[in-house]
Amino acid sequence: MAIIVQKFGGTSVGNLERIANVARRVARCHDEGNKVVVVVSAMAGETDRLIDMAKSIKNPPNEREMDVLISTGEQVSIALLAITLDAMGYKARSYCGWQIPIATDRAFTAARVTDVGAEQVLKDLNDGYIVIVAGFQGVDPDGNITTLGRGGSDTSAVAVAAGLKADLCEIYTDVDGVYTTDPNITNKARKLHRIGHEEMLEMASAGAKVLHIRAVELAMNHRVRLVVRSSFNDNEGTLVTEENALMEKEIVSGVTCNIKEAKVTIAGLKDQPGVAAQVFSALADAHIVVDMIVQNVSADGITDITFTIPQADLVKTLELCEKVKEPLGARAVFGSDDIAKVSIIGAGMRSHSGVAARMFSTLAQEGINIEMIATSEIKISCVIKKKYAELAVRALHDAFGLDKVG
Ligand code: ASP
Ligand code: MG
Repeated sequence: MAIIVQKFGGTSVGNLERIANVARRVARCHDEGNKVVVVVSAMAGETDRLIDMAKSIKNPPNEREMDVLISTGEQVSIALLAITLDAMGYKARSYCGWQIPIATDRAFTAARVTDVGAEQVLKDLNDGYIVIVAGFQGVDPDGNITTLGRGGSDTSAVAVAAGLKADLCEIYTDVDGVYTTDPNITNKARKLHRIGHEEMLEMASAGAKVLHIRAVELAMNHRVRLVVRSSFNDNEGTLVTEENALMEKEIVSGVTCNIKEAKVTIAGLKDQPGVAAQVFSALADAHIVVDMIVQNVSADGITDITFTIPQADLVKTLELCEKVKEPLGARAVFGSDDIAKVSIIGAGMRSHSGVAARMFSTLAQEGINIEMIATSEIKISCVIKKKYAELAVRALHDAFGLDKVG
């Protein structure tokens, strides 16, 4: 008997009718002879609603209490699903994170899973139960309730699958799988049958929203077989798998676009040891996540640094940079949120040349100026003006023949 973990997101459990829909799918998998563990998110909009309430009292709210509050959305959905399955005549049992336990560190609102207890779940499965686990929640070493960060239920599902050594972890969502690009930007976007873990990680960090990044990391490290598919139809989804398992690696598998970043430049910095360290330590201390960083070759011992950060952190970043400006002898600090980061991702880049050239000439043909460039082994990102974002995505999708490969 295979152990299958099925995770359903907020939209999939958004109302009682949809929960019944989920229950039918879970029941079918159980009837097919599998041991089924279900991980669910809070009903759509619920976590936002709870966060807004807390913030209306005090912003930011006390973090420990925040986790007590925002973990409740998931407790509602596990119970409603269990009640639905019971009403359908199935044996079902729901558990909160602390009951499993899903052990985490002490980082409230952004906790990391350290261990998943398998004993009770395996016992229930052997007794014929469908086991339902609250996503997003955990418990710290002191017994406090923690949550894993927004979108964290994906990570809960993969952690549970790893802990149970499940045969498969299915992430059910409101799209059919992982696409070559956002189907809202071009109707030529195509669903990928398979994608490598590292490509998926790069896609997620570059702006693709289908999977929580940490879920992909966990799946990669614990060799969890992961599938992304729709909860609204029976279409085959996308298998996220080891790169070696992919026979022919696509040169480029996807194009992404992120319009939620901003760029900041510190101009006229002294080109000497410790300068970059001072700038980025100040940002790190403020928990600002820096993405791309470009430093110019210095002329006369003076250089510029430009980097990107989440748009929401722009004001804070500018303030911090203004503070280090004086001691570092910098000339000016300026920022802009009128940017988009477009990226092409593909494992085949490792062994093919000319990919960057093709990306840059495609943008040039559209008259789009490139403001920053960054590369990894399997990704090339360009920062451009925001208004060109969709045009760039469509042009790159065509240029790399993404509508055709299968
Ligand atoms: N309910 C949580 C959120 O909205 C976790 C999740 O849905 O994955 O972020
Ligand atoms: Mg989600």
